[in-house]
Amino acid sequence: MQGMLEGRKAVVTGGSRGIGAAIVELFARNGAELFFCHLGDEERADRLVRRIAGSGPDASHMACDVSDEAAVARMLDTATGRLGQVDILVNCAGIGGETAFTDMTVAAWDRMIAVHLRGTFLVTHGVFAGMLARGDGRIINIASQLAYKGSPGLAHYCAAKAGIVGFTRALSLEGAPRGVLVNAIAPGPVETELLAGLSAEWHEMKRREMPLRRFGRVEEIAPTALLLASDAGSFYVGQTLSPNGGDVMI
Ligand code: NAD
Repeated sequence: MQGMLEGRKAVVTGGSRGIGAAIVELFARNGAELFFCHLGDEERADRLVRRIAGSGPDASHMACDVSDEAAVARMLDTATGRLGQVDILVNCAGIGGETAFTDMTVAAWDRMIAVHLRGTFLVTHGVFAGMLARGDGRIINIASQLAYKGSPGLAHYCAAKAGIVGFTRALSLEGAPRGVLVNAIAPGPVETELLAGLSAEWHEMKRREMPLRRFGRVEEIAPTALLLASDAGSFYVGQTLSPNGGDVMI
């Protein structure tokens, strides 16, 4: 897969590591100019920019908490200053955190919803009008297979991800008639730092459920984002695609 995004300008939230970094790398190899944000992951973001230098147009990054309205406005100002415009947005920033529901604090609930749902809203809101005005754009929201399947200890996470699936469907109906395609990806479990933070019991339970008897790799998720961002994805509207290794309802 090469050259599928020549001349396109992309913003990826949560692009410094994990699934977001794999998307940044694959988009860069396909000719997109990249701007990504992260939460305090400067060194890793610098390393990623150095790694992809030479494989495509420039990439740049900045720290930005996607749940912070003013910070998102600053980040998008900087991004459009660098890129000129945003043709593709990938909302990938996310956090984990496992808590039995009886122990779940209001603060933990609010933070989970803020990073995933408010963050997706804020960044999308900042680029959507421009895309509509140009009659062209792609928005790809990273949900999770757990939006459908649920998981013990992750009620807040599953609720946030299910919200992203609904948000994607609704927004796609406003975007599609005017050339802006909005879709989501719901990965199954993928080996990243987010997953590393979950308990040994969770990992054991999950691995037993996986028909492939393994978790995914970030490189197995990024191609779905490339499909949805490129001309090859021109007939996808409001869909949530699930590269999940068969991790379906039990
Ligand atoms: P990760 O921990 O490796 O990376 C998370 C990224 O998000 C980092 O770049 C981090 O800096 C950034 N981030 C975290 N909080 C942020 C905030 N408030 N503002 C801006 N950036 C922030 O995690 P990952 O596994 O690569 O997860 C990426 C996305 O994929 C998340 O939305 C996650 O929920 C989703 N997802 C992950 C899995 C999995 O199994 N790993 C499965 C399904 C969905």
